[in-house]
Amino acid sequence: MALTDKLKEIETKRNTKNACAYMAMYESLSPADQKALDEAWSKGYSANEVLSALRSEGVKSSNEAISRHRKNICACQEKK
Ligand SMILES: [Zn+2]
Repeated sequence: MALTDKLKEIETKRNTKNACAYMAMYESLSPADQKALDEAWSKGYSANEVLSALRSEGVKSSNEAISRHRKNICACQEKK
């Protein structure tokens, strides 16, 4: 692996370390998936519904991470 790639990987890890588990997952999604996720929340989907959709796509997340973020009791500053 090129040094620039390696350093970029470390930088990504440092950034996601400060974010909550939900945002770390969110940031790993493609822009299209992020948009779909935002729309799911605006349509009033429950955390369970969103979680099962994420899992069916192979995205790892947890009900706890989602609910903490949704209730604004997570570590991140940027609320989505
Ligand atoms: Zn959060």
